Amino acid sequence: MVSRVIPVDPFDLVIFGGTGDLARRKILPGLYRRMAAGQMPAEARIIGAARTDLDRAGYQAMVREAIEEFGDPKHAGDAAGVSDFLERLDYVAVDATGDDGWKELKGKMRDGMIRAFYFSVGPSLFGDLAERLKAHKIAGDESRIVVEKPFGHDLASAKALNASLARYFDETQIYRIDHYLGKETVQNLMAVRFGNMLFEPLWNSQYVDHIQITVAETVGVAGRGSYYDKSGAMRDMVQNHLMQLLCLIAMEPPAKFDPDAVRDEKLKVIRALDPVDHHEIVRGQYDAGADGPSYREDVEDPKSRTESYVAMKLGLSNWRWAGTPFYLRTGKRLKTRASEIAVVFKDAPHSIFGPDAGRHRNILTIRLQPNEGMELGVTIKEPGPGGMRLMDVPLDMSFADALGDEAEEVPDAYERLIMDVIRGNQTLFMRGDEVEAAWAWTDPIIEGWIDRHDVPKPYDPGSSGPDDAMLLVHRDGRKWRDIRA
Ligand code: NAP
Repeated sequence: MVSRVIPVDPFDLVIFGGTGDLARRKILPGLYRRMAAGQMPAEARIIGAARTDLDRAGYQAMVREAIEEFGDPKHAGDAAGVSDFLERLDYVAVDATGDDGWKELKGKMRDGMIRAFYFSVGPSLFGDLAERLKAHKIAGDESRIVVEKPFGHDLASAKALNASLARYFDETQIYRIDHYLGKETVQNLMAVRFGNMLFEPLWNSQYVDHIQITVAETVGVAGRGSYYDKSGAMRDMVQNHLMQLLCLIAMEPPAKFDPDAVRDEKLKVIRALDPVDHHEIVRGQYDAGADGPSYREDVEDPKSRTESYVAMKLGLSNWRWAGTPFYLRTGKRLKTRASEIAVVFKDAPHSIFGPDAGRHRNILTIRLQPNEGMELGVTIKEPGPGGMRLMDVPLDMSFADALGDEAEEVPDAYERLIMDVIRGNQTLFMRGDEVEAAWAWTDPIIEGWIDRHDVPKPYDPGSSGPDDAMLLVHRDGRKWRDIRA
């Protein structure tokens, strides 16, 4: 059963970058869905802010189009509902780096409401926005700011960004979004680990052989090549999304489910990561294929050395995980779009069924997309009279199957996280020291590639990645799970 929707308190949410791609694609359709679900009170108001000269009606028309294009079809077709949502919108033309529009924005803010400011703009504007919000007394000590990735491109820039926000806002007011943390399954991971007796006693190097984390995409970088080529898979995916998943899988149970208790434990995981030997990392770049150009063509740089794929073996030096490898991989233009975590348990210490029974292992698979859910592989007797032969069967819990129609009402990651901002709950947001620790671990790896003039290995689009990535796991006597949708 999906839990009852509890409306949040009335709020004024200002979306800087309210005309941009992220606002139109995710934030505004998501807010509309929350309203349709009954979570947004009638007094809630959303104010778009960007430099474009628009009046309120112009902004409402833009948002109507965005909901039609990107919104959930079930709700987007409800004309009365959409009109109701548009009534809650306002717009002000503001320049983050200048003086225009700030007085007008201040005039639109209401007393006694929660105030949240979503910085859906490039990170170079974060400091300017923070400074002006404070200088014009638009944001107070209770206000919240939401910032988007990329949060820096290395440790130095992340520290500078943190410092530029800390000058005006306390850490308890800063919500750094990693939308992976808003996914239902990611939170379920904590529920499964810490809400059941079944798994936690086995959740260590004594019983877990290894863990695989995979985030595979079928799309390439066309359209955002100039941004991506300065970043690469390591900065764009591993430093944030995969690192966050690793933290949730590997962390110790926090004493309570409160933001700092959870984030303290995540931070300990990042700090326990071993430095990675460069032989334990494989970088790749997709070649041209029948249905698309190569990475280098997509980024219009025939000599680009940026990776569109990375696979690595990681170790954690702590009592729980010493000796259990974590294999991470992520890439673009792969054979399917799938994100999953697989916890592969060790073999039973002795097989009473003899060598003919084959090798059977329990694997707990946590699927993030598509079809969020979990699957536990268990070994049973093959049915029939053929003697004691064993087979693996999945105990499958797909959210869509388990929850039926109600699964449609589960908020998507952005919706959930925005509602958490309004509620003032930072549990699913990254703290400044976490982000810095992740960069402190990432930087030497990237610097090593630069120093060694490392060239990514080519891989075929539609494949599982470069051959060397397969060897990375094979040489340990293991194999990657097949990436499947
Ligand atoms: P975008 O489409 O380029 O939008 C940028 C927005 O910022 C526009 O509304 C723009 O409007 C506004 N803006 C630019 N300069 C401004 C200024 N000086 N003062 C006030 N407003 C200004 O970018 P986006 O894709 O929405 O991305 C926004 C942020 O989210 C970026 O940091 C991006 O990396 C991050 N992000 C995006 C996605 C995504 O799916 N798009 C996903 C994850 C993270 P005007 O030109 O009218 O001022």
